Amino acid sequence: MANIIDGKQISTDIKNEVQKEVIELKDKGIEPCLAVILVGENPASQVYVRNKKRACEYCGIKSLSYELPESTPEEELLALIDSLNLDPACNGILVQLPLPGHIDEDKVLLRIDPKKDVDGFHPYNVGLLSIGKAKLKACTPAGCIELIKRSGVDITGKKCVVVGRSNIVGKPVGMLLLAENGTVITTHSKTKDLAGVCRQADILVAAIGKPKFITGDMVSEGVTVIDVGINRMENGKLCGDVDFDSVEPKAEYITPVPGGVGPMTIAMLMKNCLTACRMQNGLE
Ligand code: NDP
Repeated sequence: MANIIDGKQISTDIKNEVQKEVIELKDKGIEPCLAVILVGENPASQVYVRNKKRACEYCGIKSLSYELPESTPEEELLALIDSLNLDPACNGILVQLPLPGHIDEDKVLLRIDPKKDVDGFHPYNVGLLSIGKAKLKACTPAGCIELIKRSGVDITGKKCVVVGRSNIVGKPVGMLLLAENGTVITTHSKTKDLAGVCRQADILVAAIGKPKFITGDMVSEGVTVIDVGINRMENGKLCGDVDFDSVEPKAEYITPVPGGVGPMTIAMLMKNCLTACRMQNGLE
């Protein structure tokens, strides 16, 4: 039977660590602050934004909320970002995605000062990640690494297979595993003999977006499995990209869905807010 990696507990531990460091900063007269921008009324985005604001409250981070109408012109959003970039009291800027169709997401993400880019999506921070020098790392990928390390699994020298190569999950996860001295193979929809490649994995990260895609016959005994997938099934329940029932008996460690990678994203966002604040105050 596999050890189930408890993402809820690990994310709470991280938020508690952030909370403690925020108290120390406040003792020095520094108050970390995150600006959260939501454009439109996408219900899922509204939930994400609410959860991010709650996490800020928990950690003692001030949050500024900007809820703009769906019709907001791109120029107006860019002007808001410009003013937040210049505001020394604001340490992090988060623009909730997706944005309405008339707004160019790439343009918006590029406009955020890389020092305030707490999502870690700005090409400057992605570049730093690729040379192993990132401080603000994309939250979900960084969360995957924390789950592995805090479970006591040493990445050094391990064969790591990442399934998926998206810019927000697969690619950065691969770069972070490499920075931890893993031997990394990043796979995708054109990979030949995917099952054979996956069976080589000591550590397998699934970020595909297809429910229960990774099955027991695709993994070897003793594997550590990190399931990034979040898929809604017909019965309304959530499931991952890994078929938990057939993979778990072979795995040594495995994340559940929900309760694995999911809660880590916001915890790592809090950590990035703290890091951004420390950087802007010359503390790192
Ligand atoms: P994308 O759709 O952007 O990328 C999916 C990747 O999977 C692509 O690289 C694609 O390959 C690859 N893929 C698709 N089909 C196959 C296949 N048959 N065999 C091998 N590879 C395949 O998804 P994301 O990376 O954005 O998200 C992945 C999952 O993670 C989703 O379920 C999403 O909901 C979840 N997610 C969870 C988060 C969290 O907080 N826990 C945050 C972000 C995402 P190709 O490039 O060739 O098309």
